[in-house]
Amino acid sequence: MRTYLISIATMILIIIDRVLLILGDVPRIVRAFSIIVIGAVLIATLFIITGKSVSFLLRLPYILEVSGGFAQIVLYLLLSLGATLLLSGIVSILISIVGIPAMESMIYQKSALSMIGAAPQTEYVIEVEDVYKDYYVGKIVVHALRGLSIRVRRGEFVAIMGPSGSGKSTLLNLIGALDRPTRGKIYIDGVDISKLDDNALAELRNRKIGFVFQSYNLINRTSVTRNVELPSIILGLSRRKRRERVRELLRIMGLDDDVLKRRPIQLSGGQQQRVAIARALMNNPSIILADEPTGNLDSKTGEEVMKYLRLLNKKFGTTVVVVTHDRSVAEMADRILYIRDGKIIGEEVIRGGSKD
Ligand code: ADP
Ligand code: MG
Repeated sequence: MRTYLISIATMILIIIDRVLLILGDVPRIVRAFSIIVIGAVLIATLFIITGKSVSFLLRLPYILEVSGGFAQIVLYLLLSLGATLLLSGIVSILISIVGIPAMESMIYQKSALSMIGAAPQTEYVIEVEDVYKDYYVGKIVVHALRGLSIRVRRGEFVAIMGPSGSGKSTLLNLIGALDRPTRGKIYIDGVDISKLDDNALAELRNRKIGFVFQSYNLINRTSVTRNVELPSIILGLSRRKRRERVRELLRIMGLDDDVLKRRPIQLSGGQQQRVAIARALMNNPSIILADEPTGNLDSKTGEEVMKYLRLLNKKFGTTVVVVTHDRSVAEMADRILYIRDGKIIGEEVIRGGSKD
């Protein structure tokens, strides 16, 4: 008689569980807990009602074989049910705590990687939304960016001007996925890069972004050819293809084949910066980020380097963002953004786009 009562009680509990499921909004974790409680209550009830010890229950299969009584079969089934509920509840909690977030992140990284590889769909190639960046220097916090937002269209040529320490390099490093914002979102070709893990970020940098720095950052121990082809080695391009592309890019940058075997240090500043631009172009990026690329050059050479940036912007439709102190350099862009104290304080559209 008692075992029948237990079966009815169990059915009621299972129905409650189903109702929780149908209600739908009940979080996975609550359901898992309810299953555990149901399982535990069921097992405990069995112990109490039968008044048996653990050793008796463990010996049940043996007893069943001997007696085979109907009540005992029901008892045994109920016990297995209780144990199953208990275990499945625990497993489901483990999955929700560890498994699901890990799986979701894995799925996001995978889809982001395929988006990084795919042809871009968005109108804006760069979207920076209310971004903050704090640096911690000992106990002091430096608020380098304070709620900065910008959007750059595909194929646009944008200059960023602002006083020293206003956050220009910080902004460029965040857009280039070299660093992560403290708060806010950054989309590159529609991919939210704040959610990417380090591997996916490296992949994005390698495929989508070319950097040009004030100090060229070329490796002087090796040849110009090696310097330019370096980013493409990771992508697994064949040596012949790489060399062809190096030559083509250097020609576009107005450099003859006789620089190929030279070391960067043997070239003029303007030539070195053009080699650096060729290197930035090697993987056919959608964005070139240049941090004061003319800062080490005299104004005439600086203007020439800008002309080459402008040229590749026109030729390949590469989006270019240039940070500069120099107003005449900035005026070669389509648009100038003014930054101060980590925020955009103004914008100027240059009529006609370029001077050339
Ligand atoms: P800009 O390029 O416009 O001169 P930065 O982006 O380099 O400005 O710097 C913005 C602010 O953040 C400055 O006050 C600078 O001192 C600080 N800053 C930049 N990088 C770091 C860092 N790695 N650690 C600490 N403070 C930094
Ligand atoms: Mg700077």
